[in-house]
Amino acid sequence: MRIILLGPPGAGKGTQAERLVKKYNLPHISTGDIFRAAIKAGTELGKQAKEYMDRGELVPDDLVVSIVKARLTEPDTAGGYLLDGFPRTKAQAEALDTSLQELNTPLTGVINIDVAQEELLERLTGRRVCRGCGATYHIKFNPSTVRSVCDKCGGELYQRDDDTIETVKQRLEVYHRQTEPLIAYYQQQGILHSVDGAQEIDEVFQEIVQFLDKFVNS
Ligand code: ADP
Ligand code: AMP
Repeated sequence: MRIILLGPPGAGKGTQAERLVKKYNLPHISTGDIFRAAIKAGTELGKQAKEYMDRGELVPDDLVVSIVKARLTEPDTAGGYLLDGFPRTKAQAEALDTSLQELNTPLTGVINIDVAQEELLERLTGRRVCRGCGATYHIKFNPSTVRSVCDKCGGELYQRDDDTIETVKQRLEVYHRQTEPLIAYYQQQGILHSVDGAQEIDEVFQEIVQFLDKFVNS
């Protein structure tokens, strides 16, 4: 199955993606993770992306689209994939549609994780991520057993540079302006499925699984 996880920053896309890709054995394609890896590796792409990410802005469409297009031709995507954090603009969604039409591989569904604005600020400023395996925690809502240490791999937990209050506010504004219209875009295509992201992590997961189980083997 070919799935998009849509939702504002902090909705729980990465958290759910971690669990979903294990359950359905799908590659997890997170454009944010791709950019963070490029920054860490010190590549030209990383340098370009960092400028925008640090300001809480979106990386330009042409750059993001070319990366995702290339990723979707890699052999591990033949059996499907989970897109997390892409598309984020109408131009990206249209470019993806064109690409998938050419490949004759339509999207299976778009899962919109719905969370109220007030909750997002607390989720994002309390987020911690593992430097080793990328697992996501929250100091209050999903803490690691030992402070600052990943339960899964023992790696060090850190706070993302863009999870500061000022940058988070900017990212949420950018979401409303540029990404939220995609809800209507996919609704019109008849492939949108919204879930209540304000529930516990496991409850959100169960709701998504209930929807996705219908498409196993598609
Ligand atoms: P996104 O990938 O959509 O930006 P994350 O999955 O990184 O969001 O989640 C943002 C933060 O909120 C993380 O710290 C995560 O642990 C926490 N979180 C995710 N889902 C929930 C939930 N259902 N309830 C409470 N906190 C959550
Ligand atoms: P994320 O990890 O999804 O929260 O993304 C972190 C940052 O990476 C965003 O604030 C953007 O600056 C950049 N980014 C990730 N995905 C995209 C995308 N599809 N389009 C533009 N910028 C993106």
